[in-house]
Amino acid sequence: MTRILAFANQKGGVGKTTTAVNLAAYLAQASKRVLLVDCDPQANATSHIGVNPQHAIYGLYDVLIDQMPLTKVVSLTYRVGLDLVPSAPRLAGAEVEMVGMLAREHVLRRALELAASGYDYVLLDCPPSLGLLTINALTAAGGVIIPIQCEYFALEGLAHLLATIDLVHKSLNPALTVQGLVLTMFDGRTNLAQQVVNEIRKNAPAFVFDTLIPRNVRLSEAPSFGEAILTYAPRSPGAMAYEALTQELLKQETSPRGRHMP
Ligand code: ATP
Ligand code: MG
Repeated sequence: MTRILAFANQKGGVGKTTTAVNLAAYLAQASKRVLLVDCDPQANATSHIGVNPQHAIYGLYDVLIDQMPLTKVVSLTYRVGLDLVPSAPRLAGAEVEMVGMLAREHVLRRALELAASGYDYVLLDCPPSLGLLTINALTAAGGVIIPIQCEYFALEGLAHLLATIDLVHKSLNPALTVQGLVLTMFDGRTNLAQQVVNEIRKNAPAFVFDTLIPRNVRLSEAPSFGEAILTYAPRSPGAMAYEALTQELLKQETSPRGRHMP
């Protein structure tokens, strides 16, 4: 069965792309067939995985706006088992152009209908907004993973995101669940970070993954080499954390913990 997961948080720079790309690489290493769909005009996931957005002739824009079959725009990556639907800056135009479309929230879901069955996991890396691209990803997904940066005010904005997910769940996609919150950029040297984690675990309105993603310079270097952490620095703390997170996610397959919004 194909699992479609959206990585969403309207807050910028919280680790959506880093989490989507590195989970994609570790899932592929675990012999899963993975499709990473870059839904963000910033195209960070595209370049992170080693595909130059300027060189990708076709991408998600062509699927959403010109009804090009998704299989036609898939780029192969350096990692066997991991395919990419690339993005490019012109995807920003799609947000505006889709406004006049019929069933505009369902465009990505329909595009994935035929293609997704060839994969075990489809990971949707969302932009830092709750615009039409994110709504399309939430409408197509079965689960949402929400990266949260371990800092003061971490949960700020989360209520708004959860309300949006709830709205999509009620009106567009009854299958949508919150798969869990991932705590990112944890700095174990400060007491504050530990306090924030404790607070989040106590008050989070959804399941929180056990794995803490540490702040690790290797994770921030890897994108500039077009590599996931798995090949760039496989023994780094960041790599070990994303490997552990992948194992947690795989375990959820046998004992699902995602939950419907109330
Ligand atoms: P945007 O909202 O712009 O799409 P994002 O939520 O996708 O951002 P990322 O791009 O994954 O966030 O991360 C933001 C920046 O922080 C990047 O430069 C990334 O390399 C860096 N980064 C992410 N996670 C970590 C980490 N655990 N340790 C150190 N740096 C990190
Ligand atoms: Mg991003």
